[in-house]
Amino acid sequence: MPHEVRGVVAKSKGAPVSVETINVPDPGPGEVVIDVQACGVCHTDLHYREGAINDEFPFLLGHEAAGTVSQTGAGVASLKEGDFVVLNWRAVCGECRSCLRGKPQYCFSTHNAQQKMTVDGIELSPALGIGAFSEKTLVAAGQATKVNDAAEPEVAGLIGCGVMAGLGAALNTGGVTRGDSVAVWGCGGVGDAAIEGSRIAGAHTIIAIDLDDRKLEWAKEFGATHTINSSNMDTSQVIEAVQSLTGGNGVDIAIEAIGLPATYEQAFYSRDLAGTVVLVGVPNPEMRIDLPLIEVFGRGGALKSSWYGDCLPTRDFPMLIDLYLQGRLQLDRFVSERITIDEVENAFHKMERGEVLRSVVII
Ligand SMILES: [Zn+2]
Ligand SMILES: [Zn+2]
Repeated sequence: MPHEVRGVVAKSKGAPVSVETINVPDPGPGEVVIDVQACGVCHTDLHYREGAINDEFPFLLGHEAAGTVSQTGAGVASLKEGDFVVLNWRAVCGECRSCLRGKPQYCFSTHNAQQKMTVDGIELSPALGIGAFSEKTLVAAGQATKVNDAAEPEVAGLIGCGVMAGLGAALNTGGVTRGDSVAVWGCGGVGDAAIEGSRIAGAHTIIAIDLDDRKLEWAKEFGATHTINSSNMDTSQVIEAVQSLTGGNGVDIAIEAIGLPATYEQAFYSRDLAGTVVLVGVPNPEMRIDLPLIEVFGRGGALKSSWYGDCLPTRDFPMLIDLYLQGRLQLDRFVSERITIDEVENAFHKMERGEVLRSVVII
């Protein structure tokens, strides 16, 4: 029996989202239906609503979610009814050239459910193939990762997107380890997660850079050892400030969590020789960067980008939830407020004003 449930839909470009009755089919082969318990509000949901991702409206929004398995389709051996799961948008195929070379975290052929959920008979495009501002959602079994059910759903779900991106930018892409110095540009959810990741990895200097003193206070709670408010500083002043906190040398790992050419340039010049720059902020397609090629060459090291924190959900999600349950990872600190499914539009505005790290819809 298909299910009729409530879900948050973006019907047209820029229009406020609305709660609609969604039709969720029974799971087909390789699919599962999830009873969503909590789903965080992410910038990407807002980008879908604004038509900035693509124009495949209507969208079923929401993708940072945790819940329990309600039904499994044919051939699903990895999950059973009642399992507590975090949803992911990296269901690895196991067959592409990256998977075959033993690097499934870069899988080039991730997959989603084959069947479509609908609203008024119209097929929905689920955000990042998930669509979890909804009482139930349909995903591929590989998009649901079982974790310890002792974690609260509103905390666990955050591992599914922005917090994973930031933690992974430090832990996986940047390879931060004990004794490293790190600087992070942008202290929203992703940047603070990069700070938290650097802290648990043992970085001994963690410099947080933002324009907003309130965000710099959040950064300190996550483990920033120093903060720089760059609102009245030019690029060279920011670089000098980072160097002065690192013996004149710059940082080992510079993590850009905004996605702007100006801050990327600051990150590029603020790292030590042979250091690593990690871009985890998402630029828009019009942005350009102009760097002297001799500096790219002469400084050595690595310029990397971090997609979804280079995470492998089956490896990273259960481990990070366990660290949280052991009191070693501050995941709950990312939850700024708990809201209802009717309050997503309002939460977008709070996010745009920078008032929250994460609003989480409790379903
Ligand atoms: Zn693959
Ligand atoms: Zn997201």
